[in-house]
Amino acid sequence: MNRPSLIDMSLNEATAPLYARVKNVIPEIEWPVFAPDIAAINALKRERNAVILAHNYMTPEIFHCVADFVGDSLQLAREAAKTDAKIIVQAGVHFMAETSKILSPEKTVLIPSLEAGCSLASSITGADVRLLKQKYPGLPVVTYVNTSADVKAESDICCTSGNALKVVEAIARDFGTDTVIMIPDKYLARNVAAKTGVKVITWEGSCEVHERFTAQEIRDFRAAHPGITVLAHPECPPDVVAEADFAGSTAAMINYVGDRKPNRVVMITECSMSDNVAVEYPDVEFVRPCNLCPHMKRIALDGILQSLETMTHEVIVPVDVAARAKTPIDRMLAVKA
Ligand code: SF4
Repeated sequence: MNRPSLIDMSLNEATAPLYARVKNVIPEIEWPVFAPDIAAINALKRERNAVILAHNYMTPEIFHCVADFVGDSLQLAREAAKTDAKIIVQAGVHFMAETSKILSPEKTVLIPSLEAGCSLASSITGADVRLLKQKYPGLPVVTYVNTSADVKAESDICCTSGNALKVVEAIARDFGTDTVIMIPDKYLARNVAAKTGVKVITWEGSCEVHERFTAQEIRDFRAAHPGITVLAHPECPPDVVAEADFAGSTAAMINYVGDRKPNRVVMITECSMSDNVAVEYPDVEFVRPCNLCPHMKRIALDGILQSLETMTHEVIVPVDVAARAKTPIDRMLAVKA
């Protein structure tokens, strides 16, 4: 019989409280695969004065076991601006790491995989925004944070899925206009337009994860699970949002579950989200559709560890671009939640 070594036993002891937290979503047999990297990451980030910012779509061993701050894009952007740590490791996709760098230019921002992109961010360039501004002179440009620094730099204000409606109405008031340009997510733009009198000109971008959900799928969930509460992300097509009981950002969905404690819920969004929320609310039954974001899934524990060990991949945003991109982000952060 193989007896556990002293090293294994101390590792087990060190990580036991973390495993207790995630035992409902990570099978016991998988824990020995994660535990060594988790222990090493947590030790190294203390040594390096680093923090890990993890998006709600990270897998539970990242989200619950090594992250210092978790949340949606808006919450992570705020944490990036506040933290005193010297190093930020972004457990998320590239545009999020750029946003952290823009808000914290004096800090070293690392991303574990340079391939962690985003279909929305890659749908539009700064040159595209300049052409839009020529076509619609004088209209404010509202840019979803899921964009590159170049695109933000051409914009008047940023928004997230959590504050998009408020931002659109605030910037329309500031500009004294009834029309705004909202880029690049056509579905988020249409979902916002459905709730406001402000007219919205948009772009042909979409999230490759949320656009796959269909209204029929929602009806099928309701038929298969009577009484289920359906929460949808506003990057979903409008007919999907129309079938949901509630539509909101990932943070708003988490708050909905925390406040209302539905018996059974389905979150129409990236699939790791349900695992992460289920850890907090073990009494709520989660039906889990599994649409994975291939970009988010490029971030794994071994990559985070390597990032901290080798200080790669450092995210650089040219100073002039960062300065211009910071203005619309600051303007968004000043809009009251
Ligand atoms: S889930 Fe969609 S919006 Fe989010 S990073 Fe993936 S592709 Fe981009």
